[in-house]
Amino acid sequence: MKISVVGAGYVGLTLAAGLASLGHKVWVVRKDKEKSEALKQGKIHFFEPGLEELVKKDLAAGRLLPTTEYCKAIPQSDVVFIAVGTPSLPTGEADLTQLDLAVGQIGENLRSGYTVVVNKSTVPPGTTRKIVSIIGEKKKSSADFDIGFCPEFLREGHAVEDTFHPDRVILGCESEKAIKILKDLHKSFNAPILNTRIESAEFIKYAANAYLALRIVFADQLADLCERASGDIEEVIKGVGMDKRIGTHYWYPGLGYGGSCFPKDVAGFACFANQQGCRGNLFEKMDKLNKERVKKVLKTLEAEFGRFKGKKVGILGLACKKGTDDVRNSNALKLAVMIAQRGAKVMANDPLAMGNARLITSKLMFCRDPYEVAQRADALLILTDCLEFETMDYKRIKKEMAGNFLFDARNLLPKEQMIALGFKYLGTGR
Ligand code: NAD
Repeated sequence: MKISVVGAGYVGLTLAAGLASLGHKVWVVRKDKEKSEALKQGKIHFFEPGLEELVKKDLAAGRLLPTTEYCKAIPQSDVVFIAVGTPSLPTGEADLTQLDLAVGQIGENLRSGYTVVVNKSTVPPGTTRKIVSIIGEKKKSSADFDIGFCPEFLREGHAVEDTFHPDRVILGCESEKAIKILKDLHKSFNAPILNTRIESAEFIKYAANAYLALRIVFADQLADLCERASGDIEEVIKGVGMDKRIGTHYWYPGLGYGGSCFPKDVAGFACFANQQGCRGNLFEKMDKLNKERVKKVLKTLEAEFGRFKGKKVGILGLACKKGTDDVRNSNALKLAVMIAQRGAKVMANDPLAMGNARLITSKLMFCRDPYEVAQRADALLILTDCLEFETMDYKRIKKEMAGNFLFDARNLLPKEQMIALGFKYLGTGR
């Protein structure tokens, strides 16, 4: 098929490269001319394992065509995917500006004949159907189209793997003609396909993210209680998770949920629920608890370590999680900056995210490796679940440090062994 993907971020570029590698001809439409030229040379502006190799192969085969011009891509396409950003407004509501602009330009450029337009950007239920009228106003009369919403479920750090092996494909589409085309397009992904109403598909995406975020809020709340009443959250999760209905996967305490999706989608869902008249809804409470989480952790750290002013603090982990360079809404980075603002000298390292962190803050000093971070540090804080931090030589780390305070936000380390090495160890909920 001939396909356009509008938006070349984590979702758009991975989808475009994945579809091109399956033999489709794919234009990837982006706004930024410089990044588009770089992409033509196989250069990607973010880190995602395996993506650059895939992109280079697709470019060499002439199947992936980066462009900034809608008029070169859209009129040739059987299917147009939209994968632009839908960040939060200050109110928490989803900001649909990028989507509206992209949809307008798609409408102006639709060819005579039939096109399927598919939204993949996460939006409040009801948004995708509104796209119909925007395109309807812009398109020429000979252009015919149907609309669908296919939510994206990829995880940053696993985007390529998740694109080729999704757990499911949700087709929110109500036109038989479009459903057939989209089923054909998705069959190579070898995943169960569920066809739903457009609004149901929009709900599925918001609900899936809200539920995963809820598991993290739940673990954080439970961890707080364990700290007060001598429980060990890791034992609790293990025991509760032995119930097959629950499982031990994907609930862990720490700094709360972060990243480019959960915070904005939970806040967006909460606003949507309020607009529907569901006041005091669960999503609003989750959003509030999660926003308070970093401040709460900082308070605990100050109670256990003392004031940060004038101290040297080493921080390991700045991204929102392991395996990504994405620092959007990273609670680790927020905590690092808050500690620096309290007058500490903060030395930091992250295997992938230092470049992006540098763009956001000048308050941290970035170090080559974790051992440099630990040098003469009064406290060492491990804030993300990077494997590198789990497998360090802690005997050496202890020697490098001036103090012995070790905070392990994600409970990566064996507590007893760390205590035996001489650390004053503080985990989360244990
Ligand atoms: P992103 O910010 O990395 O990429 C969006 C891209 O769209 C940017 O490069 C931006 O320049 C471009 N863009 C904006 N307006 C444009 C326009 N008019 N024409 C062409 N390009 C335009 O965002 P992302 O992480 O890829 O997410 C995209 C959407 O997918 C969001 O709605 C997000 O919630 C959703 N999503 C993201 C993930 C994830 O893990 N990142 C997972 C599932 C769903």
